[in-house]
Parts: sequence; structure tokens; C-alpha cells
Amino acid sequence: MSVKSFSRTGIDWEEKMGVYNIAVIPGDGIGTEVTEAACKVLDAVAGKFGHQFVYKTLLAGGCAIDAHGVALTPETLNECKKSDSVLLGAVGGPKWDNLPGAERPERALLDLRGGLELFANLRPAILYPQLSSASPLKDENLKNGIDIMIVRELTGGLYFGDRGRRPGGVMPDGSPKGMEAFDTEAYSEAEIERIVRVGFELAKARKKKLTSVDKANILESSRLWREVNERVAKEYPEVEYEYYYVDNAAMQLVRRPGDFDVIVTTNMFGDIISDEAGMITGSIGMLPSASLGKPGMPGMYEPVHGSAPDIAGQDKANPCAAILSAAMMLRWSFGLGEEADLIEQAICAALDRGYRTPDIAYTQNCIRVGTKEMTTRVMESIV
Ligand code: NAD
Repeated sequence: MSVKSFSRTGIDWEEKMGVYNIAVIPGDGIGTEVTEAACKVLDAVAGKFGHQFVYKTLLAGGCAIDAHGVALTPETLNECKKSDSVLLGAVGGPKWDNLPGAERPERALLDLRGGLELFANLRPAILYPQLSSASPLKDENLKNGIDIMIVRELTGGLYFGDRGRRPGGVMPDGSPKGMEAFDTEAYSEAEIERIVRVGFELAKARKKKLTSVDKANILESSRLWREVNERVAKEYPEVEYEYYYVDNAAMQLVRRPGDFDVIVTTNMFGDIISDEAGMITGSIGMLPSASLGKPGMPGMYEPVHGSAPDIAGQDKANPCAAILSAAMMLRWSFGLGEEADLIEQAICAALDRGYRTPDIAYTQNCIRVGTKEMTTRVMESIV
């Protein structure tokens, strides 16, 4: 798929002579193993196409707490801002589990998203035919395959609205309510429009179908969401546009996932729907993601999985999610669609030849390999 880049629109890559500066944040646990794998694959691509990927390795997450006392230093954020793109592994682990929320390793993710103004989260959910037995769905629900791109709004809505606690008054029977907690869902037209446009642009380059997910029968913020969606849809007559209430979307995703192409939705609905879509494809070790900001700002690319402390340092992690995240980086930040396609085909080729890390080794006749060998097997097709 050859499409224009989103995040770095306006950059003249030819002037940069094929040199791309990538901030690499391995993070904690298996983050270090899978980012190493992704960089190896990127280097193979660079060798084939004559690009130069220049990496700057940065600390964030638990390792940054150990080194600097905070999950993300202003200096690290600044380095990320100066880069052309950010490749992240995963952060967190039991060592830091007892820290208060604001001091935990995961704080780095929120600060990176906020600092880089990453408002669009892209999570593809693809069912690889070689791994179809990993899906919890029946064959009849999978007959059209699964190839969905979830576009989740990332910097607004319920997760960023006013929140707090206050005295709750009294119940109808006069008994005290105790404290009451509240969170607020707020979206502006501008916030909705920019994420919806990402959805339509993606749909235009794919199967030309966009599903907008909201709760417009109940929520005022969803009614504005739908109004803006419908207005923008008029500019994309080539894209089939439909909308679902979130509860129905959750049901249809398991009933007939093959009917969806691009789904655009709010922060909280996207959080839930994207996990559901990921789950029905099988292993978490195969799920990449991209977070994109406004033109001129670097995007951030990371596997969906966490730091998997239970398998860290044992050469058991599936590197595919991180490698596929690197492919998304090439496509969406650098406009290198051919190179991205090649990486995705190389993953399929390794699966076709039977290579499987333990998390996806379901069948007797597959060849069980570790992180390093899986990476080598993927690289074999990039020549
Ligand atoms: P997890 O994704 O790390 O692991 C869940 C399960 O999936 C584990 O059994 C793990 O072994 C397995 N798994 C995950 N990735 C795998 C891979 N690439 N290959 C093979 N198996 C894989 O989720 P968790 O256990 O809930 O969280 C562990 C830590 O990661 C926590 O500290 C959590 O806060 C953090 N976390 C970080 C991110 C992130 O950095 N974006 C995301 C989720 C969780």
C-alpha cells in the first residue's frame, strides 16, 4: 500500500538523502529484546533500499526511574521531539508496581503521548491465515478473514476530561450517598474532525469503508461526534460510511469481523474495541500500533503488548509486533510503503515456513524458535 505519510507531512525526505533519525526507547522487560529485533529488520531494509536509519537509544519507564528518578525526563522527551520518529518497546514491571500512579513507569507513555501531541492511535487487527487456530472465534465467523484498522482518539474524551470527588448528597430515601466520583467526556469539533480525517484517509487507501463508533443515542458528546463525522464524510464520497453504537459494534466485531475495514472512535470506546479486535486475532505478540500527531511532529510506534516480565530475558518473546510496528513507522511516518510491505510479507513468509515463537506455537508440526531466530527468519526474506 503506497500512501502519503501522516505524521511527517511537509518534510522533504529527498532533501534528507534517505537519512531517518529514530529515537529508540527499549523500555523494560521484553521491550529491549523486541526493539533490538525491530532495529535489525530495519537495518536489513536499509541495506536493501539504500536508506540510513540512525538510532538514538533513550531511557523511559522503569529503567529511567532507576537511573533518573522519573519515568521520562524532559531531556528524553526533547530528544524524541527532535527525532523523525519514535520506536518504543514496553515499560513497566513488578519492581515498580508499588509506586504511586503518577510515579509509575507507565507515566512515560502518557507523557510521551501528551508531549508529542499524538492524538491518533492506529491499531491494526489482522488474522494471519497461518494463525487462524489462535482465534477464539468459530471458522464460520472468520470466513472473510480479519483485516481491521482501529483508529482511536488518544488525547481527549473521558480520559482527559474534568474529574474529581465531591460530597454526594442524599439518596431518595434520605440516607447519605457518601462521596461521589465523576469523570467527564468532552470533545470539540476540531478534536473530532482531525481524528475522523485520519480515519477517512486510511479508508481511502484501504477497502474504502469507514465505521464510526459512538453512543449517540445517549451521549451529547457522541451526538457532536456523529455530526462532525457526517459532515466530513461528504468530502469522501468514494468511502462507504456507516455508524454503530458502541454496544452493537462490540457484538458485530465477534459475529462478522470480516465486514469491517477502518473503525474510528473515541478514546475510551477505542481502548475497549481495539483490545477486543486484537483478542479475536489471536496472539498479543502479533499486534503493532502507531500513534500519530499533527504534521511535523514525530509519530510513536510500539507493540500493543507490555513488558511481559514472566518471559523477559529468556529469548521467548515474539518480536513480530515490534517488527510490524517498525513497518508502520516506515509507512506512516516516512512514506516508505514498499519497504513496509516487504517487512509484512517477510513476517508472513516466516510463518508460512512454520517458524513460531512459543506464544503462537499451537500446532505439532511448527518449528518452535526463540526471539532471535524468529528475527533471523524474518530477515531471510528481506534480501
Ligand atoms: P503483557 O502484555 O506484558 O503480558 C501479558 C501476557 O502476554 C504475558 O503472559 C506475556 O508473557 C504475554 N506476552 C506479551 N507480549 C508477548 C510477546 N511479545 N511474546 C510472547 N508473549 C507475550 O501484560 P501484563 O502482564 O499485564 O503487563 C506487564 C507489565 O507491562 C506491567 O507492568 C504493565 O503495566 C506493562 N504494560 C506496558 C505496556 C506498554 O508499555 N505499552 C502495555 C501493557 C502493559
